[in-house]
Order: sequence, then C-alpha cells, then structure tokens
Amino acid sequence: MKVLVINAGSSSLKYQLMDPATREVFAKGLCERIGIDGRLTHKVPAKDAKYEFEIPMPTHSEAIQAVLNALVDKDNGVIGSMQEIDAVGHRIVQGGKYFDRSVLIDDDVVAKIDELAELAPLHNKAALMGIEACREQMPGKPMVAVFDTSFFQTIPPKAYMYPLPYELYEKHAIRKYGAHGTSHRYEWMMAKEILGSRCHRLLSCHLGNGASLAAIEDGVCRDTTMGLTPLDGLMMGTRCGSIDPATVCYLQREGGYSYQEVDDMMNKQSGLLAISGISNDARDIRTRASEGDERCLLAFDMFAYKAMQQAGSMIASMAGVDTITFTAGIGENSAELRELIFDGLAHMGMI
Ligand code: ADP
Repeated sequence: MKVLVINAGSSSLKYQLMDPATREVFAKGLCERIGIDGRLTHKVPAKDAKYEFEIPMPTHSEAIQAVLNALVDKDNGVIGSMQEIDAVGHRIVQGGKYFDRSVLIDDDVVAKIDELAELAPLHNKAALMGIEACREQMPGKPMVAVFDTSFFQTIPPKAYMYPLPYELYEKHAIRKYGAHGTSHRYEWMMAKEILGSRCHRLLSCHLGNGASLAAIEDGVCRDTTMGLTPLDGLMMGTRCGSIDPATVCYLQREGGYSYQEVDDMMNKQSGLLAISGISNDARDIRTRASEGDERCLLAFDMFAYKAMQQAGSMIASMAGVDTITFTAGIGENSAELRELIFDGLAHMGMI
C-alpha cells in the first residue's frame, strides 16, 4: 500500500510517500519558502538520492503540483502514475469541536475544516489548498484528515478554560485547543521508543516557522502553549504569540486599525519577521545577526527568551521534567537556539 502523507505548514509543505504497514518511505521531501519564492527538495531513500529544484510557489497549490510531478517524473520518480497512490493523509491543524479523531474526507468535512479556518487562519486554508489540489489531480482517491487538536483532549479544564465569561465557552466553544498535536504525539512516541522507562515527563518542543511546546506525562498531554488558535504561546516566524490581550482592543480603539488589519498584523507581520525587519526565516536572521545587525540579534534573543519562559511554565505543569525533545526546522537544526533557550533553565539542573 502507498500512502501520500501531506503536511502543509504556513510557509512549507512536507510530504512522504510511504507504506504505513512496513514504514518504508519511497520518497519524501520538502517545499520551502512558499509565498516567498519556492524550493523543492525531493529525496528517494532507496537510491540515496536528493534532488533540488527552484520552482515558483506563490501558494500551496503550486507546491502540491510540484510534489506530484516529482513523484511521477520519468527519470527520478518512484511511481509510474498517480494510480499507484492508494490514499492521501492530510495533517489538519484545527479540528475544533467537530473532530476528536481522524476522518475520511468528504464535502462535509471540507466545509467544516473551512469553517474552522477562522481558528487557524494560516493553516486550515493551506491544508484545504492541499486537499483541493489532490482532489483535482487524483479524483476519487480516499483522503483522510488527521487533526492536531485531538492529541490535546486530555488537557484538564483548569488548563484549557479561559477565565472569560462562562457563556463564551458554552455558546462559542472558546477554550484552548492546542496545535501541532501530531508532532508532539510523535515526539512522545520516539522518546519512549529510545528511552523506555527513563522517559516519564517530557517537554516536547516543536520549533519551526510555527512553534509550540507541550507538557506530556506518561503519554498524556497536560498542557501546551498554543490556545484557541495557533497564534498563542511562543514568538514565531510571523506570529506574535502571547501578548497582552488589551493590545488588540487598544490598536482598534486608539490606533485606528480595523479588526482585519490587527488580525493580519498578529498572524502575518509579527514574530521574527517584525523584530528582524528582514525575514521570518531563522537562517536569514542568523546570517544578518552574525554580521552585527542589532534587530536580528534582538529577534534571536526574544525568540529564545520567550521559549525559555514558557518551557518553565510547561515544566511546572508536570512538576518536573526528565526528557526534552526538539523537532521542526529550528528545533532540529539550530543547536545555537537550543542552547540559548536552555541556558536560562540551567538553574533547574539542565545541561
Ligand atoms: P513550518 O512551521 O512552516 O513547517 P519548519 O518546521 O519548516 O516550519 O521550520 C522553518 C524554520 O526552520 C525557518 O525559520 C528556517 O529558517 C528554520 N531552519 C531550517 N533549517 C535551519 C538550519 N539549518 N538552521 C537554523 N534554522 C533552520
């Protein structure tokens, strides 16, 4: 069986063509810098081969198209035609009140994912573009939606409720849902596989263009940094993370900004991009910081400081920690940022 797994992030799209029974990966890759320019890195593990292409990717649609072309490419492809793909799995960030498990995608599921996009504006829309592009290219192919929010169903009410008027929870289901759940669940599974009984209280760190932390105790998620939407928590590539909520009212009342402008500002024009003034890409910022650019240095410092502070909060929610895992672009690749974050927690006995 061949399943195409698609993870459409805010500025990137990761994919694998794999056999879920044997875990064999036939091809995998990454579309990066979507909306900036566009780069596809396509790997075929069996041949130990890696192909890189510069392909304009103004949106996720062009990214999916490029992935499908690479899979069936007559020289470097791994399948003869789309018919060889048995099913497609899509990672969806926000399942809200509708989805507490993975589901087969139909028109109703698409409509609900779209409805929930207001809770995850950067992601559910990106995933929908991926779904629509796959439906066009592979009509009738079974597709499954896997929701990030389902992993956080174990978070207790004291952690997921907001101290707002109670009817907002009853009428509008306003509460913490979390995001990156599939990633945090996988971090737990891998830590357990590697460490066995030594892994008990895990601080799971997903640090990419989107970033979040999760406190996981014996496989049960106790708390996470993202909230009603993936805007909450850590400072991110273009998202502000936690700020004083009064800022939102103030900007509209005193600054003359519309609701839409404030929403765009916090989701698309904040974070590393806003502070560095040059890019949301940590690599670009690293290069300029090493040349002495003060705003890029500040962007790095802020990213690390806020992650360190919120790591402390996650650790407190488990009353301790014995294992820390890192994933996503920054978490996996930037030893420097990992060190900056955990320097601040050295007093807890972390090395
Ligand atoms: P998304 O949330 O869009 O899926 P990713 O997990 O792909 O994001 O992470 C993208 C981030 O990872 C970018 O800020 C990028 O600069 C950063 N990154 C990727 N490779 C490296 C590296 N070698 N060193 C530092 N940062 C990196």
